[in-house]
Amino acid sequence: MPDEERFFMRRPWAYDLEAALVPPPDGYLGFDTRALHAGYHPQGELGPFRSFVPPITPSMTYPYRRFEEVPYPVYGRTQTPTNAVLEARLASLEGGQACVTAASGSQALFNLIFTLARPGDNVVTSLHTFGEGYKQAATIFPERCHVEFRFVQDPADPDSWAKEIDGRTKLVWVETPSNPTLFVTDIGAVAQTAHARGVPLMVDNTTATAALQQPMALGADIVLLSITKFLAGNATVLGGAVVGPEDLVEDIRWNTTEFVGAVMQPFESWLALLFLETLPLRMERHSANAQAVAGFLAEHPKVLRVNYPGLAGHPQRALAGRQMKAPGGMLSFVVEGGIEGAARVMDHLQLIVHAVTFGTSRSICMHPATITHEHMTPDERAEAGIDDGLIRLSVGLEDPADLVADLEQALEGE
Ligand SMILES: *Cc1c(COP(=O)(O)O)cnc(C)c1O
Repeated sequence: MPDEERFFMRRPWAYDLEAALVPPPDGYLGFDTRALHAGYHPQGELGPFRSFVPPITPSMTYPYRRFEEVPYPVYGRTQTPTNAVLEARLASLEGGQACVTAASGSQALFNLIFTLARPGDNVVTSLHTFGEGYKQAATIFPERCHVEFRFVQDPADPDSWAKEIDGRTKLVWVETPSNPTLFVTDIGAVAQTAHARGVPLMVDNTTATAALQQPMALGADIVLLSITKFLAGNATVLGGAVVGPEDLVEDIRWNTTEFVGAVMQPFESWLALLFLETLPLRMERHSANAQAVAGFLAEHPKVLRVNYPGLAGHPQRALAGRQMKAPGGMLSFVVEGGIEGAARVMDHLQLIVHAVTFGTSRSICMHPATITHEHMTPDERAEAGIDDGLIRLSVGLEDPADLVADLEQALEGE
């Protein structure tokens, strides 16, 4: 079978948006439009369903019509039609060529690194990464796959990144703004540094989302996403994705997703598609609310430090202003009294829920030093700015005055 034909058959659900919609005069569809339409149109290739809402296709196998015609997908472990719509939408929102989903954001990271690196290779990153990412980098990959992870000394300095890159570096991995300290890394500068040495840059865009930050437009080659957080936005979905060049995405799909499993289920993909419709609206409101809450915390005498890229005191505020549309919905702050001090405040919160996730429409707080980043050594936590008194706060869509009132009474609480 000629390659073009195989390619075409592989992707009957990767709906060609431009062919289906009458494009605006300049031929470009805006972000908000793509959040609603990318990957699916009711009169498009999924036409037989004629469903206004993208259909859920929970079938785990896809019949052959003729012996020699291999269907795509052939089996639910590779892809499902609902999943393909979600992948097309995420690729469109990030401005990437292609996308492959995974059972979680952590799984997506694993699939990416497992695909790119062989024993003896290395990945360059910093300590400003989410907890499971750090655990994969510090233990799983080095100990079990002999892939080394190098944590740069000063992630604000491009030379510091350059120093760690060598001939065996397969990936540079930046998380910005980082979870939980909201450290902002200069995507364009690190992209230049990596590209000068022929290494691709991956940016984890989970905290900002494509609604607020477009890493690929700034030079990133690959975007990592946890769909679990702001993208789905209400703690109903666990999912992840890698957006990147078609050949890499297909390599991940055929060599990890297909052979190892751990796929995102059609129902989860379907929920994510519906929630993505409101992503731009939600991120705008999350940001406005977080700005209000951060302003309150920054003035409070019992708060030692607030990490939020929208505050005047944030060391990379100007950079955040250049590479983000708004500072986002997550912040963290340090209270007096270390772990006990944080526990006292968190136990006094009445509206804000103590739970392990972020990006939900309802506000959530969490204690990184004992929960997500407990595997780091105390020195590493200190270097990453994860104090014992640090509380991560995901600011939801409540009335900001109610969130401020809850924090105020909790900070006063005995
Ligand atoms: C939570 C998180 C992930 C992992 O996502 P899961 O879906 O929970 O596995 C990846 N990156 C960042 C920045 C995160 O905060």
